[in-house]
Amino acid sequence: MLDRKQYDLEMDKVNKDQIGEIAKYLSNFIELNANMRDQKVNTLGNEEAVKYISSLTFNREGRDFKEVADEMVKNVFECQTLLQHPRYLSLVCCSISPYSIIGSVLADIYNINTAAYNMAPTATIIEEKLISFMAERIGFDTKKATGVFTSGGSLSNLTGMIAARENKLNHNKDLPIAVAYTSDQAHSSVVKGMKMMGLRPDQIKVIPSDDAFKMRMDLLEAELEKDKNAGLRPFLIVGTCGTTNTGSIDPFCEIAELAEKYDMWFHIDGAYGGSILFSDIYNNLAKGRELADSFSWDTHKWALQPYSSSTVIAKDRDKWVNAFNEHPEYLEDVRQSEHLDGWDRGVEMSRPFRAVKLWATIQALGTDKLADIVDYSFFNCSLMEKELNKKDYWQIIAPPSCAALNFRLAPKGIDESEYDELTNMLSKRINDAGYAYILTTTLKGKKCCRVCLINGNTTSEDIINTVEHINGIAEDLIKSFKK
Ligand SMILES: *Cc1c(COP(=O)(O)O)cnc(C)c1O
Repeated sequence: MLDRKQYDLEMDKVNKDQIGEIAKYLSNFIELNANMRDQKVNTLGNEEAVKYISSLTFNREGRDFKEVADEMVKNVFECQTLLQHPRYLSLVCCSISPYSIIGSVLADIYNINTAAYNMAPTATIIEEKLISFMAERIGFDTKKATGVFTSGGSLSNLTGMIAARENKLNHNKDLPIAVAYTSDQAHSSVVKGMKMMGLRPDQIKVIPSDDAFKMRMDLLEAELEKDKNAGLRPFLIVGTCGTTNTGSIDPFCEIAELAEKYDMWFHIDGAYGGSILFSDIYNNLAKGRELADSFSWDTHKWALQPYSSSTVIAKDRDKWVNAFNEHPEYLEDVRQSEHLDGWDRGVEMSRPFRAVKLWATIQALGTDKLADIVDYSFFNCSLMEKELNKKDYWQIIAPPSCAALNFRLAPKGIDESEYDELTNMLSKRINDAGYAYILTTTLKGKKCCRVCLINGNTTSEDIINTVEHINGIAEDLIKSFKK
């Protein structure tokens, strides 16, 4: 027999000193986080770290863990764009709550698997309670609703769209003639998910948006009518609550009416804008969302959660489970029926206890805090628009919606054909300087700076100082451009 000592745990080697080391990493991080405002946003371009990590290899004997951990902190964790920096104003990234970090660490230490109720009953109940809380915010009947925590909006969208396919289509007859619809402002994960579901490119219809970047209902209806008359089977429409580009919200009441008329599943991608439902003031912007069949909502976007924390919430648990339950013989002993097992509610089987992060946050901070963050984000976004409007070289391309704002550099005396290049150069100079971080997007053919002000630590002072800072960069740029 192979004489081998138990090697996999080596728990005897994890002594108090090492626990002290781990606590030190945590306290370093907390300090870094507390002083983030004083740091440069952009710490990318650390070529030394890239070279060092690229040069590492594996060895047979292993090596001292302290060395490994220290080199990771220095070369990996502290070598990234600071997405949680209060003046990181791009993409859809948020600040994180310390309570969610603690929840996350505990979930990892105890290594809970939320695949089934019987593996961790109270963890499942916590997930159910959060799904129910969010279903109520959407306006679904909480007795009938269900849902699941997933890795992100991309997987949440895919899950909702698979439920659509399984509930609306007969595989033999309908699948080859099925058609799915979304708008030209939908997130890339929507069309990607449609492809992954097995739809051909000609089965995916991208409907143009209007001047407010909302899906055009006249064009959608015309397309539906045309497709139905051609003998096709429209079965899915995906609207967005908070588009990635401009924060626009599609007209859900009208979409729902068409979904009903053509017997389609209606999914809402609220990955980013879903969190406006925490706000008593702004939830009204998403009228008609309760008419959807399923709703994606990332809490790692605008609700203080670290990656990854997303949900997809469904109106009708019977229809939902119909898409995802299988009954393998090796799971019969752990299956039970009163609570739905995680594996019957979505794509994944083994799953980390993602819900604990949001649970810890809401329990510690209360629900008002999440509403405050959303309300303050809206305030800051309007403030930024006001500050920009004080100078005549800024042009607003898409006004505030879901705390997103798009503007470009459009100075008098310089030809409009140069604005794209000017705006690109501006973004590059802002990011090189590292005081703030602002990326660009293109809207209706115009290059814009796009900001998304959903970080709970971004203050109005940050906004005012950032506009002053970018005014300086803009003025230099205009001067050198005119020469
Ligand atoms: C971010 C985002 C997604 C994708 O979510 P991930 O969590 O990054 O997978 C989908 N839709 C919208 C509108 C988003 O903003």
